[in-house]
Parts: sequence; C-alpha cells; structure tokens
Amino acid sequence: MCMNGGVLLLQLIDVVKSYGGQNAVDHLNLTINKGELITLIGPSGCGKTTTLKMINRVIEPDNGQIIVNGQDILKQDPIKLRRGIGYVIQQTGLFPNMTISDNISVVGRLQGWSKSRCKERAAELLSLIDMNPEEYMERYPRELSGGQQQRIGVLRALATEPDIILMDEPFGALDPITREQLQNELINLHTRLQKTIVFVTHDMDEALKIADRIVLMREGKIVQAAAPEEMLRNPADDFVASFIGKARMLSSPEDVSVDDVMIMDPVTIEPERGVAEALDRMRKRRVDSLMVIDHRGVLLGVVTIKDLQQGLLKGGRVRDVIKGEPAAISIGQSVRDAVQFMARKRIGYLPVVDENNKLKGLITRASLVSVLSDVLWADPDTSSNGTETTTEQNTTTEEERVEI
Ligand code: ADP
Ligand code: MG
Repeated sequence: MCMNGGVLLLQLIDVVKSYGGQNAVDHLNLTINKGELITLIGPSGCGKTTTLKMINRVIEPDNGQIIVNGQDILKQDPIKLRRGIGYVIQQTGLFPNMTISDNISVVGRLQGWSKSRCKERAAELLSLIDMNPEEYMERYPRELSGGQQQRIGVLRALATEPDIILMDEPFGALDPITREQLQNELINLHTRLQKTIVFVTHDMDEALKIADRIVLMREGKIVQAAAPEEMLRNPADDFVASFIGKARMLSSPEDVSVDDVMIMDPVTIEPERGVAEALDRMRKRRVDSLMVIDHRGVLLGVVTIKDLQQGLLKGGRVRDVIKGEPAAISIGQSVRDAVQFMARKRIGYLPVVDENNKLKGLITRASLVSVLSDVLWADPDTSSNGTETTTEQNTTTEEERVEI
C-alpha cells in the first residue's frame, strides 16, 4: 500500500544464496519503502529465513546486491550494520541473567549509552505496550510469561531506533490468544513508530492481518508481492490461491466452501449400464463407489462395490442396485457442514450438487485428509504431485489431488 510515493529504504537486487548447488534464494528482487511492514510468507524451506538473514549479513549472499539507505551493505562493517537492524526471533534470545531493563537496552549499552539513558529508554518502551516499568524493569526473563518475554524481544529490537526490524516467526511459539495480542500490539507500534519491518511468517492469517504488503515466496522466488486485499482479490496463480485457501481452511473452516475441496471429476456411471461394466470401471479408476447420473448430469444415487457385487449375481443393471435419494450437499456450503454431515451419517463420501441436483463434485475422506494434511504439515509442492494411492474408503485417484 505504501508502494507509491514512498521513500525507498531496502533493495534486494538479484540476490542468490545456494546450498549444495540448490538455490535457497533464487535471483530475488524486492524493494521495500521506509515505514512499510512487509511479511515474507511461503511454505517451509522456501527461503524466508535465508532472505532475512542476508539483510543483516548473518548469511552472505552468493550473488546480487542488498542496498539499505542507498548503501551496499556488503561493503559495510557487518557488526555496525547489525546494530542498526533490529532482529526478533522465535526463541526470544533474551539473556537469562540480565534484568528486563538491561535486556531491552543491551544494544544501547554497546553503542555507549549511559546507564540512565538505557533505563529511561527501557521504561519508555515498556510504557508503550502498557507494561508497568516499575513492576517489570528489574525482573528477569524467567519471571515473565512467554508472551511477555516475546514482547521484551520486540522492545529490544526497537530500543535504538533502528532503520529496519527483522522478525522471524516471532509469535510462532505463542498460544493463539497471546499471539493475537502481540499482533495487535505490533500493529499499534508500527502505526505509531512507522518502522520498516520485514516479518517472516508461515501463517497467512497473520500476514493478512499485519502486513502492508505480503510477499509470497516459493522455492526461493517471489510468486506475488501485493497488499493483502489485492492478493485475496487477485491471486497471481493457482499456487497463491491454494496457499490462501489452505490458510483460511485452518483458521476458519466455516469460511471454506465445499467447492474448494471437492473432487471436480468424480467417477460416474449411467443407470442403464451393466453391473459388470460398472465393476470394471471401478477397478480401472481405482475407486470403490460410483456416482450414478442421468444424461443431464442429475445425481440419481450412488453405488458401492458391495451393491454391485450383489447385483452381479443377478446379472442386472446399475439402476437395479442403485440406492436412491443419496445424501448430497449443495455447492457453496461450508466444509464444516460437509464434515459434520458425513460424521453424523457415517458416510465416507458426499456428492456435491447444484440447485438442479446436477452432480458437481465429490467430497471424500481422502480429499479432506489430503487438503488438511497440506494445511497442517506439508509443503504444497509435495502434496500436489502426490504419489499413487491405493483405494481407501472411496475414491483416491490422482484426479482428486490435482483439483484440490
Ligand atoms: P524457510 O525459512 O522459508 O523455512 P530457509 O530459508 O530456512 O527456509 O531455507 C531455505 C532452503 O535452504 C531450505 O531448503 C533449507 O533446507 C536450505 N538451507 C537453509 N540453511 C541451510 C544451511 N545452512 N545448509 C544447507 N541448506 C540450508
Ligand atoms: Mg524459517
């Protein structure tokens, strides 16, 4: 949002860092304006931390330039550079044997501040986030809660008024409520102090909440850099859309519709077909149930492998073994509704239909698990080209993974 008309503060130009022949950061270009709060986000291993650490020269790039305030940082003294850049990490890095006051002003001390100046600054910063200085100045980190310790980590980074503050998943280890509080405090601090902040997170909701601009990375490259609303409205590609979708799924499943997780092309059969043919189709497509639809695509029912095996003895047609009035869910309903419905009815799949009862897709346990496991554990890369799966409860073929 601050992109236009802002004062340029930080430039990464064609920056490369590789490990063992692999580019962890791959010709990255990014410019950040003074006062901007940028979030770097992306799947685990996409190069967020490496990018951040190159800005304060904890890691040296193999190639490219990093310019801060018009100066090439690679030509500066790294120690001096680092003192001008605040750094907040998940493990707070507070010194256990130093008081809160001393912890906050540790960089000030290094810069030769007097004791009283250090104390004044610590008190001022504590007041800024409504921690009573009299109560906290002389305490030790272990006497504080995790959330309070992390607050002190943030104050320490602010203490000497650095040009840039780098934050690497600073709130990642906190419980959701504390995390939310710290996010709000950070937004307040940022509004009041107008610091330039580069904030790494893998939590899209966090990014959407705090960022002026979100920079979404994948495999060391920037996929999209945009204001939160812009990214939500116009995701640059499927990867961005799916990254946003999955993030929403985790935090607010009621907002995610069945359309986002259904298999778009479930295996179907027409009622006039023979039972043997239906079984053959199942075997070939590696599924254990078929959606029965008429020539207009209207859902008539579902047949399972068991239904068909019984029908086979009678040499009948699909329509003879069909279970009519199948349970189905309408397009646009939430995934949460779908999951509750499946649990209540003890079914492993749920057809998705439009207002004319035409089959639009299918939700299966496998499709839900696949999406959820992406959200919870996986790098979207590895799950979307997933390996062949054997038949589970229902359909588990490549097609469902591709569409998710
Ligand atoms: P992120 O912070 O986005 O999770 P990182 O920047 O930590 O990702 O890592 C990016 C890639 O670089 C990963 O593939 C990681 O395994 C690799 N990597 C990071 N640091 C090292 C290192 N010191 N040695 C070898 N590979 C590394
Ligand atoms: Mg990291």
